[in-house]
Amino acid sequence: MTDASSAAGGLPHHPLYIGGRWREGSGGRRFDAINPYTGERWATVAEAEAGDVREAIAVAQAAFDQRWSRSSGHERCRLLLRLADGLEADAARMGRLETTDNGKIIRETQAQMVLAARQYRFYAGYADKLWGQQIPLDARDTLDYATREPYGVVGLLTAWNSPMGLLANKLAPALAAGNCVVVKPSEHASVTTLEFCRIAEAAGFPPGVINVVCGGPEAGRALVEGGVAKVSFTGSPAVGREIAALAARRLVPVTLELGGKSPNIVFADADFDRAAVGALAGIFGAAGQTCIAGSRLLVERPVYERMVQALAERARSVRLGDPLDPATDMGTAANEPQFRRILACIERARGDGARLVAGGGPARGPGLERGYFIEPTIFADVRNDMALAREEVFGPVLAIIPFDGEDEALALANDSAYGLAAGVWTQSLPRALRMTRGLRAGQVWVNTYRALAVQAPFGGFKDSGYGREKGEAALAEYLATKNVMIDFSDDRRDPFALKS
Ligand code: NAD
Repeated sequence: MTDASSAAGGLPHHPLYIGGRWREGSGGRRFDAINPYTGERWATVAEAEAGDVREAIAVAQAAFDQRWSRSSGHERCRLLLRLADGLEADAARMGRLETTDNGKIIRETQAQMVLAARQYRFYAGYADKLWGQQIPLDARDTLDYATREPYGVVGLLTAWNSPMGLLANKLAPALAAGNCVVVKPSEHASVTTLEFCRIAEAAGFPPGVINVVCGGPEAGRALVEGGVAKVSFTGSPAVGREIAALAARRLVPVTLELGGKSPNIVFADADFDRAAVGALAGIFGAAGQTCIAGSRLLVERPVYERMVQALAERARSVRLGDPLDPATDMGTAANEPQFRRILACIERARGDGARLVAGGGPARGPGLERGYFIEPTIFADVRNDMALAREEVFGPVLAIIPFDGEDEALALANDSAYGLAAGVWTQSLPRALRMTRGLRAGQVWVNTYRALAVQAPFGGFKDSGYGREKGEAALAEYLATKNVMIDFSDDRRDPFALKS
């Protein structure tokens, strides 16, 4: 792949991608990409003005009207398969870029590229199978069928924690369904989304089908307000609310993937070691910067103290270091504002009287001097009404809460504004089934945690959002239903009566 152009100062510079052209924002502004491991600028990115965003929407609309809406499912299938191959072949380089941009460890970012490629393949298979439905009516001389059609231009907004994975969740079904898109990645991690366009271009996507505009909230608002027919957003609940309100003014449908405060519930009858590993994966995987983090660990009282001590010991041996080093377990907070936010949450939990059993501050040591490192942190004896149990930290901070019995576990688990994910650890099948039935969460795991599959639908209840990504369910988010009724009788109807 060709690399980004070089800016003044020798840093790579990444322009916007609109209508198949690489170009600067009309205001000529740029912002810095900061490497959270070194705290230094490592690239610059062109910033889109509101006018550039509107132009990208217009270009995408023209591409839809003149070209993409006439594409066959087979053509889209072939392009998506080539895109998947291109991304997979480039997974090592793309993983390094994403790790440099957001501090996630290289083992995870490279695996995410491969998983993203899998997403494009999965939806490629649907592109030429967007069946409608023939519907038998009471009126026999009427043919009725429903077709499913793309919306046109869809606006996709993503968060900084997994730019390529979050994009694939949206882009793969949106393209398979036949939509054109304008993407706005997070201003904290924009580089891979732009580089991805080179892969899409090489795969043969026509100009204007995929467009990327960069910037912060202003560019995001311009995208939602600017004439797209559908919006899909991944980010925080506060911004999700704003976006839904903006979209409502134009009556544009929205898919919202928001945050979580997910309960991971360990019963005394669970396989203790597996549950301990699941608890660690749930909170320290991706340094806790994942929407599905199992950030509330509910532990049944007979194994409570043993679990607290086992996790505290294990937390102290997590290897922090250069996220590009394959031996590193946990990277940095992805950016400075997030680093400060996590530390503030830790201070508040201390003030609220939770028992600190591991970590509790910025991580120091050789190789950690400049990065936004946070110690793997565990608070025990957390009450479910403390801020640490109610608010999303989006960092490596675990709240452990004791419980007695299934009823209390369920009551604590569901006593949350969020409803994204939940985990249950037990060896009792009836208990597992009772718990999965009672939990108000879009993704429930039993005897595993933080496991996702392309085929399985994913999304939230309550403040965690609405709509679904992944699986067949995601296709429906990008298709509108049209019903067609054809009367082939020679009936002369009464013009004043409703025909049935
Ligand atoms: P964020 O809400 O701050 O930003 C998300 C996106 O919206 C970014 O592209 C940002 O530039 C844009 N934006 C910000 N303010 C805007 C505004 N006023 N109008 C329009 N656009 C605006 O979220 P973040 O800090 O980037 O990401 C962390 C959040 O994302 C967490 O809450 C996390 O749980 C959530 N998340 C959810 C999922 C999921 O699938 N459910 C996955 C990953 C992250």
